[in-house]
Amino acid sequence: MQHDATPTTRPVVLRDGVTIGDEEITLMLGPCSVESYEQVRAVAEVLVAHGVRILRGGAFKPRTSPHAFQGLGREGLEILRAVADEFGLLVVTEALGVEHVPLVAQYADIIQIGSRNMQHFPLLWAVGETEKPVLLKRGFMATVHEWLMAAEHIASCGNDCIILCERGIRTFETATRNTLDTNAIALVKAETGFPVIGDPSHATGRTDLVIPAARAALAAGADGLIVEVHPRPSEALSDGQQALPLEQVPDLIAAARRIAAALGRSLPAPAML
Ligand code: PEP
Ligand code: MN
Repeated sequence: MQHDATPTTRPVVLRDGVTIGDEEITLMLGPCSVESYEQVRAVAEVLVAHGVRILRGGAFKPRTSPHAFQGLGREGLEILRAVADEFGLLVVTEALGVEHVPLVAQYADIIQIGSRNMQHFPLLWAVGETEKPVLLKRGFMATVHEWLMAAEHIASCGNDCIILCERGIRTFETATRNTLDTNAIALVKAETGFPVIGDPSHATGRTDLVIPAARAALAAGADGLIVEVHPRPSEALSDGQQALPLEQVPDLIAAARRIAAALGRSLPAPAML
């Protein structure tokens, strides 16, 4: 039986030679929330030492409780940009509402659309009208079809620089925060041209499961990973229970390197120290 040719991934090209969706695996690491300049700087030092080029961090946070830390807002964006420029990193950060898009676009290299906003259509149109690459997280209750239609909303406004992110979905299982849908990673790789990355932090909600889930996402074909890390997870203002301490970043990278090698892919070499 004849099968249609598998679409090849169209890489998203960022600045400074950083590309997502080619044979190289891309890592995006950083805290759930930007908390202080010192915190982000401590993370950035580790990223640079290990050849990680993209810094993540939330300045506008979509928190379940209105009483939880909501992020530093503009100050968080300023911290991210200042540290990223100091260390030659790129920034991915979330735009929570339509009104934030121009501001976030000014500071970010990639605009993140969070899981809770995947079908916030005016927000999708707003980022679709920018020229910034978009990291589109899958809604935790969204089907793959709905996820791809959300991408289509962005693309139909003229911006097809979209990176899909599988961050776990809600299932009957409550032992973990979410369930990493590795099927979906393989499926979107097989059926679309978008690069896809895995988020083992939100998919599991547990520090000790982050590296195993990261391996699974890459084994399923993910082009990269977005992972929450923190200098002192027990003091984190959000998602500390799933943050990888900085001391474990080398383990994450070693694991990713081994899976990449098994698949004929690679990771950037660590900086020469
Ligand atoms: C995050 O990246 O910190 C985040 C809020 O993710 P999600 O939208 O996947 O829950
Ligand atoms: Mn988080």
